[in-house]
Amino acid sequence: MNTICLKNAKVSDGDLWNVKADVLVDADEGKILDVGPGLSGKEEIDLSGYTILPGLFDAHVHIVTGKIEYNDKALKSWAQSGILTVRDMGLGDGKKATDGYLKWRETVRRPDCAEILTAGQAIAARGGYMHIMGHDENGIAVDTPSDARRAIQAQLAAGCDGIKTAMDLNGFDEDTPQLSPEILQEIAKVAKEMDVWCAAHVLKAKFLRVLVENGIPEMAHMVLDPVPEDLLDEMAAKRVIVTCTLQSINAPRPLLPPEVIASMPPEMKETIKKMEAVDTAAQERDAIENARRFHEKGGMLVLGTDTMRMETQPDVAKVPVHEFQLLYKAGLSVQEVLAAATKNAAIACKVEERLGSIETGKQANLVAIKDELDESFEALSHVEFVMNQGVVIKDAR
Ligand SMILES: [Zn+2]
Repeated sequence: MNTICLKNAKVSDGDLWNVKADVLVDADEGKILDVGPGLSGKEEIDLSGYTILPGLFDAHVHIVTGKIEYNDKALKSWAQSGILTVRDMGLGDGKKATDGYLKWRETVRRPDCAEILTAGQAIAARGGYMHIMGHDENGIAVDTPSDARRAIQAQLAAGCDGIKTAMDLNGFDEDTPQLSPEILQEIAKVAKEMDVWCAAHVLKAKFLRVLVENGIPEMAHMVLDPVPEDLLDEMAAKRVIVTCTLQSINAPRPLLPPEVIASMPPEMKETIKKMEAVDTAAQERDAIENARRFHEKGGMLVLGTDTMRMETQPDVAKVPVHEFQLLYKAGLSVQEVLAAATKNAAIACKVEERLGSIETGKQANLVAIKDELDESFEALSHVEFVMNQGVVIKDAR
């Protein structure tokens, strides 16, 4: 057996914090053999002065949102940064999971790439959420509970890992068709039967209530308006998981060049005006406050970003340091923020038996930072050492 021993570092994850320990890895199987003092292996790597963390997750990205070349650039960029697992929360631009996407994913199951978990296409109301996102074909439009069941079963049979659904108004708070309670209940039921994750896109507390009442187990965003106390209580009692995407709320929007705006039809100009009038700073404050209150009630938060369009800007595929900082601002401790990006993310993605912590038997997805993780989270912007599936893919010390 080929073994690699990571020596003399500290180890931090959702359960351990700055514990001096060696990590022994089975390099053939890509698994952790042992964690503790005084270990040795065939190959030894001295990580004195470093802290080993579990491979990080971004639990809300979109791999395909526009033109896609199915290249591995973004996945390599993520892996080099320390993000070793990304969860794809819905294909866009009319792409079906079976349009070559799942086949391509098989070709990037390699240590130099971040692993993709995928929902395939979102399950949504006809003329509703997916229509907002462009056109109905961006998701799978369903009219009845049995439509929803069939669509989900077909995607899971094809190789998708979980379910994405949605309830939303259009961008200007105008009504759109929504999934019925019966359909939501059926979606939740299938998720339970198949033991897969099931997350809903939601931005408004009123829809959050409908989703929670009808059994949807995870929210793909923290909503942008204040959540009533009783609803937070119900969510905590039902162990609803929330993947916060806080940094996307008040992110600087690239302003379109004036000549592009000038050439737009009047209704598009009107749309752009309305979009610019939204007070995203206030929305961010409300979402952080919701996260803080939910966390105080013992609710589980997971780190995600809603990163998309990596095909045109692969440099966005990296550790989202600002998202870590915003979760800390929501009152989580440094270790709890790390858990949101590792242990909790693995639980949300139903891969906790394999990933998310530094324990014997887990996959050897390990990253190392200089010194210790602190409340600036700056060390995560330059992770110096990365082991993915037991293979050292970066050593920039
Ligand atoms: Zn999203």
